[in-house]
Amino acid sequence: GIVRQMVAQEALQLSESKYRKIFENVQDVFFQTDVNGIFTDISPSILRYSGYRREELIGTPVVQYYWDPQDRTGFVTALQQKKEIADFEIRMKARHGGLVHASVNAHLLYDAAGIPTGVEGSIRDITERKHAEEALRNTNELLERVFSVGHIQIAYMDRDFNFIRVNDAYAASTEGRSPEYFIGKNHFALYPYKENERIFRSVIESGEPYHAYNRAFEYAGRPERGISYWDWTLLPVKAADKSVQGLVMILQDVTERRRSAEEKEKLEHQLRQAQKMEAIGQLAGGIAHDFNNILSTIIGYGSILQMKMGKADPLRVNADYLIEAANRAAHLTRSLLAFSRKQVMNPRPVDLNGIMTNVEQFLRRIIGEDIEIRTRTAGGELIINADTGQIEQVLMNLATNARDAMPKGGVLGIEAGLLRMDEEFIKAHGYGEVGDYAVISVSDSGMGMDGETRKRIFEPFFTTKELGRGTGLGLAIVYGIVQQHHGFINVYSEPGSGTTFRIYLPIEHAAVPEAPVPESAYPARGNETILLAEDDETLRTMTSTILQEFGYTVIAAVDGDDALLQFRENEDRIQLLMLDMIMPKRTGNEVYEEIVRRRPDMKAIFISGYTPERMRIRTVAGQGIAEIQKPILPKDLLRKIRELLDTKSI
Ligand code: ADP
Ligand code: MG
Repeated sequence: GIVRQMVAQEALQLSESKYRKIFENVQDVFFQTDVNGIFTDISPSILRYSGYRREELIGTPVVQYYWDPQDRTGFVTALQQKKEIADFEIRMKARHGGLVHASVNAHLLYDAAGIPTGVEGSIRDITERKHAEEALRNTNELLERVFSVGHIQIAYMDRDFNFIRVNDAYAASTEGRSPEYFIGKNHFALYPYKENERIFRSVIESGEPYHAYNRAFEYAGRPERGISYWDWTLLPVKAADKSVQGLVMILQDVTERRRSAEEKEKLEHQLRQAQKMEAIGQLAGGIAHDFNNILSTIIGYGSILQMKMGKADPLRVNADYLIEAANRAAHLTRSLLAFSRKQVMNPRPVDLNGIMTNVEQFLRRIIGEDIEIRTRTAGGELIINADTGQIEQVLMNLATNARDAMPKGGVLGIEAGLLRMDEEFIKAHGYGEVGDYAVISVSDSGMGMDGETRKRIFEPFFTTKELGRGTGLGLAIVYGIVQQHHGFINVYSEPGSGTTFRIYLPIEHAAVPEAPVPESAYPARGNETILLAEDDETLRTMTSTILQEFGYTVIAAVDGDDALLQFRENEDRIQLLMLDMIMPKRTGNEVYEEIVRRRPDMKAIFISGYTPERMRIRTVAGQGIAEIQKPILPKDLLRKIRELLDTKSI
């Protein structure tokens, strides 16, 4: 009896203490609550989980320790339905506000009568597992997002380069294929590029990633795709034991980027080029001024020699050569100035047909024999108000381009005609002004050009020709000149079927073209008195000499002030002023304005070299005023003088 009872008691105590030991030491926390959800017992290891001691918790309601009351509702409902629940996840609030993820096993307790008395169960801390799961989920999500980036192609393959997965961008680069198509297929069976295979292998063998930038690639058998450029990355994928399991290939098409970088470089180059040209232009403008003075002197004295020597003189031919050479130099300065666009435009009514005929003769000499030139002038006169030299330049530039476009020969057509530009034309072409126009068309049977080129041809420095062959200025100059003449230009061209440029220049109705003066005829002599103001001594002396040769009396002045002084002293005698535009102390304009105030009918010839905009003659031309450009050609000068002196002033 009693012994047995004692033994039993002992055993119970023993098992109780054993139970306690387990209760106190196991990782899982055992707990009991009553029907009201008040903790009746909990193992001390809860301290590790939550920071609460066992004694603190007992007697308090469980509800306090839920992170989210929703979890409790779920728990209670589940327990009521199933009586016993396993691995139910709840979130608990730890003492200092921390979140503990817990997995709970629990069942209901009943009394002898089968009435529930409480809940008993165990709690396991799964916080770490939860964090790991979440990290994994985040990683996966991140991977998915990286994978779905549209412009980066990604392919994952095993050690033998069989595709495991590719992203949409990768699949899309091979038209019509879905990512699934690739799975299980071998990369090098699809793309048998030996050199790449070598690189792939080296990544597998070394376990080191591989990067390549801007790698050129051409699809085998697909030349129409052209060459593309790629940034490449190959990453080895390693198992926990560091063995290489496969690789991830990341590709980015950088063809566009490369192209825009190249374009940028080209633009920079053009800018440098433009700056260089600008500098050359400045320089050209600067020297042209002095150079023209020198040329004037050479041509002037040369002309005097010529005149004095007479046709039969054995030395005459030397003078002729001298002048011819100087004229060529003068032409050079003019080209330089045209290039720097500081050329003064000198428009007068001319017949376009005449210009065309002149240019044609010249073209026949410079354009190869395998190009046939066909010209057709208009039936009647085409009088335009133009600078002959500039229009010649337009035709020359167009013809040179045509020649370049026909390396194997062909036909160059130059035609002139008359066109009545009406509303309909303007509507159809999108430009123009109502009126009569001379139309020059320059066409070739050459290579033509595509739309991209056509759009840009008038840009300065745009050229498709190799370095050293094209400057890209030809059409820019053409465009500038056409604009200056209030005209229009357009181009029709298709690759392979030639090019036609059309230029429309307004017809000058009022004017009668100047009758061409026979080349050799020297103008008539005179006996008037001329005030010549020119600061360049050689030029002054030369001009005086010529004028005197032709019977004029010359009063020379060395600068603007001197000109006024000389004028006052000789006022009654002077019938004509010849004024250099740019002189020390006073410009030609200033001198003229001063004099005209006293003598409103005074006639004047302005000598201009390279003339900056602000120095242009400000007075209305046509009232006894003329302009002559350096280098001064004696014939022109003498003719102008006579023209002025022979017109009655009003
Ligand atoms: P450049 O002749 O120095 O290249 P241009 O300004 O004269 O410069 O011409 C610019 C570009 O326009 C040329 O490089 C060429 O591509 C194109 N072009 C001009 N004229 C023709 C033509 N007749 N046929 C084909 N292309 C032309
Ligand atoms: Mg050209």
